[in-house]
This record gives sequence, C-alpha cells and structure tokens, in this order.
Amino acid sequence: MYVYQADLFCDYCGEDMCDSLKDNGIEDDGDSGTYPQYHNEEDSLTDSPNHCASESDCKAWEDLRFYGMSDTDPLRGAEDFIVGELLAEGLTEQGEQYVLDILRACPKTPYQAALHVLWVRTYSVGVWCVEADSGNIYYAWGFSAEQAVKTLVSVMQEKNETCDGGNSEYDIENAVDEIYDIPKDVEIL
Ligand SMILES: [Zn+2]
Repeated sequence: MYVYQADLFCDYCGEDMCDSLKDNGIEDDGDSGTYPQYHNEEDSLTDSPNHCASESDCKAWEDLRFYGMSDTDPLRGAEDFIVGELLAEGLTEQGEQYVLDILRACPKTPYQAALHVLWVRTYSVGVWCVEADSGNIYYAWGFSAEQAVKTLVSVMQEKNETCDGGNSEYDIENAVDEIYDIPKDVEIL
C-alpha cells in the first residue's frame, strides 16, 4: 500500500500516482506529503479496516453487489456500489474488537451488510453456534473459536441456559459448531 497526503492507497493506485508524478517531472523525495510512499501492508497493523482512498475510482475496486447487495438496494448516503480495495493490514487487538462491535451492531443498511460480508471474508472472522438444552440456539462472532466460546459462555450463564447439563466453558466449548454461511435474520452475539 502507499501513504500519500495522509491517505492510504492500494498498490495499483499508488503505483499509478507515482507514474503520473514521474511523468510530470516530480521526484520521490521520501516525504509522503509530496510523493506516495510504499509500505508493506502485511507488516502494518491497524485499529480499524482501511479501504483504498481512491474509493470508486480504485484500480482494485470491490463491487458490493458481489457481497449481497442488489442493484435496487438504496445506497442511503453511500456514493457507489463500488468501494476501494480493503487493504490487507493486520488488525490490532483494538482493531479486532472494532470489527466485532461493528458486526454485532444492528440493524444494518444493505450497504453496511455487504461491506461487512467483505470484511468477514477478508479477515478470518467466523460464526460459531451452540444449542442449549432448552432448544435455543446462540450464535457468536469470533476471530477464533475460543473468542466465540467466551461470548457464548457469558451470555448463556447470564440467561441461566445449560448445555448438556452444564454451563461451564468446558461444556459449551464441546458443543460449539463453526458455521460456514453467515445466518440471516438471527442475532449474532
Ligand atoms: Zn486503489
């Protein structure tokens, strides 16, 4: 990715900007204020997901219609179905928490729902579920099974739900299943 004038750009857009600056006789002076500076995004950690700042003009664009939006869905303040590439930076602990909080927030506009599907597919966030002895099913997001189990344990204990007779972390951990399709119309904790 490239940093340029306080914005982040994907490799394609950054290289494009470097080319056009070069064509205009502008040299790299090592300052991101005047010339795009390359950073390996795999070595970078962020507190929240970043998309290429070229937005709908991004050379590595993502079309939210591939992630569940349809042509007839209202954009509700967003400008386009097309968004800039999601930069492949790692997430800090705070960044993971930020993504989980956003995923849990409801209701979502069709735009937000599609953007979040893109995030879920890019970062390894999953959904785990557990069926309580009462027959109620609980779903939780997590970057790992352990993280989802923690959420499920605290909610089930709060609701006095048991699982195979117990409600300890051990009982729940053994009954938890990973889900491969994000369920619609259920509350995911
Ligand atoms: Zn881009």
